[in-house]
Amino acid sequence: MVETRLIDGKARAERLRQDVAAAAAALKAKTGIVPGLCAVLVGEDPASQVYVRSKGKAMREAGLASFEHKLPASTSEAALLALIAQLNADDRVDGILVQLPLPRQIDPQRVIDAIDPAKDVDGFHAQSVGRLWSGGRSLVPCTPYGCLILLRENLPALSGAEAVVLGRSNIVGKPMAALLLAENCTVTLAHSRSRDLPALARRADILVAAAGRAELVRGSWIKPGAVVIDVGINRMVLPEGKSRLVGDVAFAEAQGIAGAITPVPGGVGPMTIACLLRNTLIAACRRRGLDEPAL
Ligand code: NAP
Repeated sequence: MVETRLIDGKARAERLRQDVAAAAAALKAKTGIVPGLCAVLVGEDPASQVYVRSKGKAMREAGLASFEHKLPASTSEAALLALIAQLNADDRVDGILVQLPLPRQIDPQRVIDAIDPAKDVDGFHAQSVGRLWSGGRSLVPCTPYGCLILLRENLPALSGAEAVVLGRSNIVGKPMAALLLAENCTVTLAHSRSRDLPALARRADILVAAAGRAELVRGSWIKPGAVVIDVGINRMVLPEGKSRLVGDVAFAEAQGIAGAITPVPGGVGPMTIACLLRNTLIAACRRRGLDEPAL
């Protein structure tokens, strides 16, 4: 039986936010520059509204500037592209974040690829993706980068480790695999058509679950001592009609087997916003050819 360590993403994210705030204050004192993020929200999706509000609050708390454009659900693709062009040209804006999902009449990839890659703080632009996979310098998607920070601090070495990523989305699974490969892990990227997921997962020294399926990963899928990063956020309805958030890993079953695990909530989630602040600050420095803080 292994003693399972809890990876406190909330505390680590708070430290990163403080580090960003300190670096932003130093940048402002030296140059007068205040890095700014502009969030673009199209439509009335309640979850997206909550995300955009909490991102704005976190930006202001770190001493960064936060701008917002709220557009009606009927906005045309051409109108959104015109706004992106305007934000690309606005020197106060270092990061542009288009909240997904977008209404049906708008092609999300066309909009993402219209963002100046230097302001692509989500790291979803085709140029950012290409650079990430080819080992170039790019802005890296926030959720997988947050996972990487937690992994670096919870494993003695990543090099040579067997890493299994469950889920191959463009925002989590694929960039996570690219980051782990760059750390010299041996990476398996599994998905809904993979055969024998439990056997694949059991090979993993590092198991990243990002499938969006409540408690998909059972205790028996985990190699004793593995570090488990649970990206999933799923709402599970309880028998009495209430609901609670659960991850993609059966957390109670992982106890005594995993070497370390992130909880849901309080694990990866808080790291995502902290990494967005980090990316905005880094984008502000890189765009102007200034030294960037090591964060
Ligand atoms: P997504 O776009 O729906 O992708 C899910 C991936 O998981 C797909 O590649 C899918 O395979 C795979 N998958 C689904 N069911 C599976 C199964 N039974 N077995 C194996 N693979 C399966 O989701 P996402 O946007 O990557 O998000 C994944 C989860 O992370 C969600 O719960 C989301 O809420 C959460 N999330 C959390 C954060 C955070 O900050 N903590 C950020 C982003 C996302 P196919 O490709 O074959 O369909």
